[in-house]
Amino acid sequence: AIQSRIAIVTGGNKGIGLAIVKNLALQYPSSPLRSGPLTIYLTARSAERGNAAVETLLSDPALQKAKVLSRDGGDSEIKFRELDISSEESIKKFGEFVEKEHSDGIDVVVNNAGIALDGFNLDVVKQTLHTNYHGTLLVSQTLLPLIRPGGRLVNIASMAGHLSKYSKDIQKSFLSAADTSIDACTALMDKFTADVAAGKEKEEGWTSAAYAASKAGEIAFSKVLAREWEGKGVLVNACCPGYVKTDMTKGNGAKSVDEGARTPVMLALAELNGKAGGFWQSEKEIKW
Ligand code: NDP
Repeated sequence: AIQSRIAIVTGGNKGIGLAIVKNLALQYPSSPLRSGPLTIYLTARSAERGNAAVETLLSDPALQKAKVLSRDGGDSEIKFRELDISSEESIKKFGEFVEKEHSDGIDVVVNNAGIALDGFNLDVVKQTLHTNYHGTLLVSQTLLPLIRPGGRLVNIASMAGHLSKYSKDIQKSFLSAADTSIDACTALMDKFTADVAAGKEKEEGWTSAAYAASKAGEIAFSKVLAREWEGKGVLVNACCPGYVKTDMTKGNGAKSVDEGARTPVMLALAELNGKAGGFWQSEKEIKW
């Protein structure tokens, strides 16, 4: 039997990521995945911000009241670990740490870290794809082999990555890439970059939005990874948290961070009856 469960959240120092860490701790005791104590790695690119976030959680009234953290006699433990998803070296180092520290495997990975830059130009496109698409993909590929059967990988994409934003041809390209391979998904991101460089992204059926393309790419590769890992019993899903009040939305947004964490935490901890490869919003699977 499994002695303890291990969860990892990226970009856990603030916003939706911080709320995901908190709600994983709160909901784990009643999760079907429960098996011994839960250790959650709150990862962040800044050690200072990450450690401060762990301290915030340790004194969070909801967590104290629920007595789910070891400091209060509970099961869960929250630890900081550095992980910058825009750095291959940082991802490699983190992967090696996890493999060494948890050689019998991990259970939950939530890819929450992401950026939304202002403006639109080739540099914005490259930076956005580098973090949101390539960074999230590399974290997924590094950690998926370490996830035990029954485990989960959840990618926080966005409704911005919904296919309805694109021409019929681009929609077809996305669906076909998601049915084909990671290389096909990456080639489509490369085509977007090339089309932007040539100033013809609209003509080619895209929108002039780097964030949206990166999130559509994330949904596409999540479907490929879901098929690759389903056989091992590892469920990969992508979701949109909703429109959430955080720094990213500059204080706009309809949902609180706890509400935004609901679908990701459900995909991480609830009974999914084997469902994988889906795109979810408001706790339901929706059409991409
Ligand atoms: P925030 O900007 O509040 O938080 C983003 C988090 O990601 C921060 O912890 C940030 O760290 C981290 N991050 C950014 N780049 C990196 C990196 N290279 N390595 C590690 N961590 C990084 O945004 P939200 O909480 O709103 O967003 C969380 C996720 O939800 C994102 O993927 C976003 O795209 C998605 N989303 C959000 C929506 C919303 O309405 N808010 C809607 C749809 C999707 P740091 O503090 O160091 O910058």
